[in-house]
Amino acid sequence: MPLSDKRNIKRMKLNIKNKFTTQLPADPILENTRRQVTGACFSYVTPKKTSHPELLHVSPEMLENLGLTETDAASEEFLNVVTGNTVLENTTPYAMCYAGHQFGNWAGQLGDGRAINLFEVEHNNRSWVVQLKGAGETPYSRTADGLAVLRSSIREYLCSEAMYHLGVPTTRALSLSLTGDKVLRDVMYNGNPDYEKGAIVSRVSPSFLRFGSYEIFAARQDHKNLKVLVDFTIKEHFPHLGAPSKETYKKFFAEVCALTLEMIIHWQRVGFVHGVMNTDNMSILGLTIDYGPYGWLEGFDFGWTPNTTDSQHKRYRYGNQPNIGLWNLYQLANALYPLIEDVEAMEAILEKYTTDFEFQSEAMMRNKLGLSSENPSDGVLIQELEDALQLTETDMTIFFRNLNKFNPNNASQGLSVVHDAFYNPIELSDKIKAQWNAWFERYAERLLTESVSNEERIFQMNAVNPKYVLRNYMAQLAIDAADKGDYSLIDELFQLLKKPYDEQPESEKWFAKRPEWARDKVGCSMLSCSS
Ligand code: AMP
Ligand code: MG
Repeated sequence: MPLSDKRNIKRMKLNIKNKFTTQLPADPILENTRRQVTGACFSYVTPKKTSHPELLHVSPEMLENLGLTETDAASEEFLNVVTGNTVLENTTPYAMCYAGHQFGNWAGQLGDGRAINLFEVEHNNRSWVVQLKGAGETPYSRTADGLAVLRSSIREYLCSEAMYHLGVPTTRALSLSLTGDKVLRDVMYNGNPDYEKGAIVSRVSPSFLRFGSYEIFAARQDHKNLKVLVDFTIKEHFPHLGAPSKETYKKFFAEVCALTLEMIIHWQRVGFVHGVMNTDNMSILGLTIDYGPYGWLEGFDFGWTPNTTDSQHKRYRYGNQPNIGLWNLYQLANALYPLIEDVEAMEAILEKYTTDFEFQSEAMMRNKLGLSSENPSDGVLIQELEDALQLTETDMTIFFRNLNKFNPNNASQGLSVVHDAFYNPIELSDKIKAQWNAWFERYAERLLTESVSNEERIFQMNAVNPKYVLRNYMAQLAIDAADKGDYSLIDELFQLLKKPYDEQPESEKWFAKRPEWARDKVGCSMLSCSS
């Protein structure tokens, strides 16, 4: 028997469920034409066949979550499923219908324009949706092609798994593949389109529902389906909230607010800037979703955004992410209002977001500074640190990681401890040095009021201040190599970022400031939505 036939006999074993498609209203039209879809949560659609699919990388952790083995991942069947060439029996791929507010404006129907959900898998009492990003047109593709390029697929693949290992709530990635087809893209929207390698990431999440999934029904005054979708969401993803009622809906909204805030606090902690916090990119489960023109802070700067599409207003800049989270939750509140009809209660929930933010943000910063106790002066200490960090370009990751070497009995050494974090140490004027020294004095005094040992403090700091993050230029190096057919850096970074809090002496080269060549390079600090 030829090898390929033998392989086909041993099929992947997946415990497949189709809860989304069997419990929610489907678009009755099966034709894959671009249109407005009403009264439905999704449209059935078949992934596009790819010409020469090639698997570049698989996440072993995600394989295990789905109950698959490395042998499965090496099979022809796996390759064909994650590149859209095979649709498994008893599965009905679909694209989700949703709307959204983009850059502050109502954008109407958007939907999965280049994402196709394959099926749900239940394993170890957990439920996962497997979705292909870049597998071709859907009724929601509007003017675009439904495809994804290697560049953005590498970025999504590496970052979603890296975020998971950093402890940031996120959707996951199962695989990264080449399609073998070419895709035309105008990277900077400047009239210079070029062909790039097409790719598909298979993404995984308990759910890909977004704020926009609810907004679309509210906007169309389709309260019947709004209720159907909310009830489904609660039953499948918030079962502890109980049977549907106005009270349950309030609790649901409060929980989404809490999860969203928790996610954003994590982003602030690790210096992640999402870049496109439109309501269609806000997961109802509080997971980081849709890795597009995201970026990592290098110099600590509340005003920074990687997204060139947003360079004028910087709506989605680092320091504004918590506010935008709230703005987006207001849009969700409006969408859920017809089911709750209690303005006062909803406003109270939204106000709680603001007070919780103040509290949690300070707690997060206290952790980064290794402070175990609370002190009324902490707010000022943190504020002064944030001011000092922005005096001159100061690498966020290196600063906080190296702060673990600070000895509170030797405050005058503070600046030398974090010296590596300064991009241009010559810029440290006497005035700036004095400001830093004053801060280190305060910090030392504060640390001396703590009762935990230095050892314990360092341990705690290392657990929240990552040593390795997916710096913008690192992803770009992996992309540049991959464009030339060398995929080894994808694996190297994938392995490195599995243990972001560990010292990895053999990988010390990645614990370094952004190289100068990457400062203004497209893909490193400048990204567009065109992916
Ligand atoms: P994003 O900015 O990636 O969240 O996308 C916003 C909307 O545009 C979503 O509805 C996407 O599905 C859609 N979209 C983005 N890129 C493409 C593409 N290449 N083809 C079809 N739809 C796309
Ligand atoms: Mg999106």
